[in-house]
This record gives sequence, structure tokens and C-alpha cells, in this order.
Amino acid sequence: MTSAESARHFIANAFTEGRSGRRIPVENPATEAVVGEAASADAADIDDAVRAARAYADAPETRDMPPVERMGMMFRMAEAIREIADTGARWLCTESGKPLADARGEFDEAARYFDYYGGLADKLEGRAIPLGGGYLDYTIPEPYGVSAQIVPWNFPVALAARSLACALATGNASVVKAPEEDPIALLMLGRAVQRAELPRGAVNIVCGYGEDAGAALVQHPGVDQIVFTGSVPTGQAILRAAAENVVPCVMELGGKSAGVVCPDADLETVAASVRTGIYFNSGQVCSAMSRLIVPESRHTEILDRVVALSESLSIGPGIAGHAITPLISAEQRDRVEAYCLGAEQEGARLATGGRRLDDRPGHYMPPTVVDRVQPGMRIAREEVFGPVLAVQTYPDDDTDRAVALANDTDYGLCAGVFTRDLDRAHRVARRLRGGQIYVNEWFAGGVETPFGGVGLSGFGREKGQEALNNYLRTKNVAVRLG
Ligand code: NAD
Repeated sequence: MTSAESARHFIANAFTEGRSGRRIPVENPATEAVVGEAASADAADIDDAVRAARAYADAPETRDMPPVERMGMMFRMAEAIREIADTGARWLCTESGKPLADARGEFDEAARYFDYYGGLADKLEGRAIPLGGGYLDYTIPEPYGVSAQIVPWNFPVALAARSLACALATGNASVVKAPEEDPIALLMLGRAVQRAELPRGAVNIVCGYGEDAGAALVQHPGVDQIVFTGSVPTGQAILRAAAENVVPCVMELGGKSAGVVCPDADLETVAASVRTGIYFNSGQVCSAMSRLIVPESRHTEILDRVVALSESLSIGPGIAGHAITPLISAEQRDRVEAYCLGAEQEGARLATGGRRLDDRPGHYMPPTVVDRVQPGMRIAREEVFGPVLAVQTYPDDDTDRAVALANDTDYGLCAGVFTRDLDRAHRVARRLRGGQIYVNEWFAGGVETPFGGVGLSGFGREKGQEALNNYLRTKNVAVRLG
């Protein structure tokens, strides 16, 4: 790990400082020390990246590439990601604060996206549409061309890979805007691109702030399609920019997802899902289980168990393998703490946690359980993006009430139900609002399962075969037979 590897833009298969000459400091959230820096793209750098992407997308060799060749590129890329994973994971752990094992897991997931979409690259088929004897009609799935992808800081490597892999498999070129907080590990994917000997311009990654680099990218007239993962206000700004050029978007925004515990639920299962659902990545997960909706008769039992679990988790730097690691920044820590204070002021009760740990360097918030949360409270409706679980109750025999509470938010990303009753599981799953529903295991699924939201959580689906629809458009050819 040297600071020479601090992030530079990756354009047309070469690393470059960029034209602006400006740099962004990169902090270690566990020590608050500056550990690297990143280039900061301006509009001219973005233009370079989009031009490189356009050259690849429009080249006859790209358009006429046999699908099996694209498949080979994808598998080489998966292998190359695995080769750089150890170094990359240490950087990701350092700049994001997350546990080293989870950072390593992000690289494994990134490789898996390239394997998964590599396996689909030679199976993208059109169809023949019957029009009667005098005609032949068929469809061709075509790539959009240049895909712009804006990535947030919570899973920079895995989230970039999920869009990049699908775009590459479908014949698109990509320009990725890395998050300003932790761009270094993501830029290492450029080294994997070089190792895999992908064609120049297929994958381009730029660093920079959202308001200049990100905005310049989404406004660029050479961009044909946008995938955004991040917050609602930024998503809204990007949609406005996309409207100017009439460019389709995928919006992967936030969430306020709830797990409904039925009276017959197995509490071991519930506790395991609390551990991963709200404490994985210290709760900085769009699909986190940030609310638990429990039956009144089991409230005390569940609360005791969840509090004991929360207080048992080790807190410290990710590099030392702790369960709860620092939040990404001081601002994020302040924001999370403010939500906890606000919840108390609105009448909720902090069952554990809720105050920053200021006995050490680093942006730490402890695992926090907020009890007696009522539907109108901000803690019940707004995304906290930290290790904070809100607990709500419902009368045991009123499943309708439990579902209504779960659905009572403007978001709709994920939801879950915990029960031993198969019929009830399916009935409740149908009624919960969200793009992914979990039964008896939060985060069940993988790269194969379509992911995305409704309402303020956005639209479009990434992951799984559904994601191919984001990167391909249909051309119809109708032939009048002589
Ligand atoms: P953010 O919206 O502040 O930033 C996300 C990205 O957008 C960053 O790369 C940023 O530089 C860029 N950006 C900012 N302003 C821009 C602009 N005007 N034009 C173009 N790009 C711009 O979000 P964040 O705080 O980095 O990430 C946390 C949010 O992301 C949470 O709300 C979380 O729920 C959401 N998220 C969603 C998913 C999902 O798949 N649904 C996954 C992870 C995170």
C-alpha cells in the first residue's frame, strides 16, 4: 500500500492525474488520519472519459464482437479481480472503515458479478414475432452505448461491479464516478481491467465530487443511460439532468425497511437477522432492517434479546476485525446521533446506545435500539444509515396492523417476515411493499436476485437477469417477403 496508489482516474486503460490538478484527501474513519488522496475530475476530465467510452461503444469491433468473446472478457475480469482482492481489500478497509473480511467479501462479490453476467453474455437473444405468411419479424437486443454509473461510499467496489459487469456483458461502455469518501479500492478495478486486457475505453472510472464530476457526467450529451445509487435528493437532481437529454435512468435510492415478527417466529432466527440486518456495515446499508415490528405479547422478550445482542458486539477498527466499525465520516456520525436524540425528544426510549463514543479517535456510534417508536416519528420514517434499530409493536392477532406499520413509509426497498407458518409467510410477503422481501433471513439472496425499490427507493432493478433490461433496448426488424 503506497500513497502513489491513491486514486487517479482510469480512462482508456491508463491511469491519469486528470486536467484539473485538484486532489481530494481520503481519510481513515477509524483514526481520522488522512491516508491517501484522489484526483478530482472537472468537466474536461469527464469529457475525456465519455469520449473514451464512446470510442469503444461505437467501434465496429465492439458492435460485431462475437458474444463468446465478450463472455471471455468477463471471465478474465472476474479472475483479475480475485488477483487484486487482497491488496484492494486492505485499502477498502482503511478508507471505508469496514471490517477487513467484509472488504474482502466485496471483492469476491465483484468477481462474482463478472462470472454471473459473463455466463449470460452469449445468451442475449431476440425473438421472432409472427405477422403472417408475407412477413418476417424479429427483434435485436442492442446496447445503449455509454452507461454512466454513479456509486456511493457504502459498498463502492461491489456496487460499481454490479453495474459495470452487466454493462460490459451487454456490449456497453461504462464511465463510473467513484465516491469521494473511499475511491481508492474502486480505482484498483482499473488494474484488474489492465490485467484482464479488456479493450480500451470499455471501463472508465473517474474520481471527484458529486456536484462537479458527478453533475458533469450526468449532464454530458454523450451519455446514453444512467445508473445511480445513492440518496433521494441526489437522485432527484440526476433525474432533472437526465430529462434535459432524455436519457433513461435506474434509481437505486434509500430505504426504511421493516422486519415483521409474527407471534410464532423463532427468536434465534430473528436475532440472527438483527445481527446482519441492521449491524452489517454498521447499518450503512440501503436495504438495512432498520425497523423491527413485534407482537405485543413478545415485546419484552424480543427487546431483551436484541439489547443483549447489541451490547455483545465488539466495537473498534475494521482492520482488527471488530463487528461494529466507525461510520464513514464525522458528518455521518453526527447525523446518526442527531436521529437518536430526536427520537428521544419525540417520546421514544433508547434501550441501548444512542450516543457517540468519544473516548477514542474515529467516528463511532454504538449499536442502538430505540424502543416505543410510534408511526409518525422521524425515526420510524426517515433513513438513518447507521447502527440504529427502531422497534414498533402491534396487537398479536392483528397482522393487518403489522403490515400497515411496515408499509407506512415513503420508501419501499425491502421488507421481511419472520414466522414458522408457510401460508402466513407468503400472504404477508405479497402485501409488504418493496422490491425484495425476505422470509426468515434478512439479506437472503445474491447477485442472482433482482434488487430495487418502489416509491422513494427508486425504480429499475439491478442484479439478476432483470438488470439486463437496464442496458439493452429492443430494435424490431420487420421484413416484407417478396
Ligand atoms: P449521495 O447521494 O450523497 O452520493 C452518492 C453519489 O452521488 C456519490 O458518488 C456522489 O459524489 C454523487 N453525487 C452527489 N451529487 C451529485 C450530483 N448532483 N450529480 C451527480 N452525482 C452526484 O449518497 P451517499 O450519502 O453517498 O450514499 C448513501 C445513500 O445511498 C443512502 O441514501 C443509501 O440508502 C443509498 N444507497 C442505495 C443503494 C441501493 O442499491 N438502493 C445502495 C447503497 C446506497
